[in-house]
Amino acid sequence: MVDTAYENVAATGAGRVVFSFLWMQKHPEDIDVVTHEVMHIVQNYDRSTLPGWLTEGIADYVRYKYGVDNAGSKWALPDYKAGQSYKNSYRITARFLNRLENNRHSRIVKS
Ligand SMILES: [Zn+2]
Repeated sequence: MVDTAYENVAATGAGRVVFSFLWMQKHPEDIDVVTHEVMHIVQNYDRSTLPGWLTEGIADYVRYKYGVDNAGSKWALPDYKAGQSYKNSYRITARFLNRLENNRHSRIVKS
């Protein structure tokens, strides 16, 4: 659902995604915010069983792997910067998962 009153980018809960109308209006190229949020529906596990940084990292990893037009929205995994941790969530965790996948852990994220 697109919510004109929702002020964040998007959120998923109970099998339902809410997208910000304002975000979509300002960033029409960001199609893959949908990929990220729908991945949370696919994940469909009790979020209390996994740390949030990993849940969000997996969703961004899936966006990175299966996104429709990340390039068009200039969305990419960031380069490593000193002091970052794989627990920094979102793209940083996604980069870590991608690195594991490319280095002897090809099934680190089951897809
Ligand atoms: Zn998320």
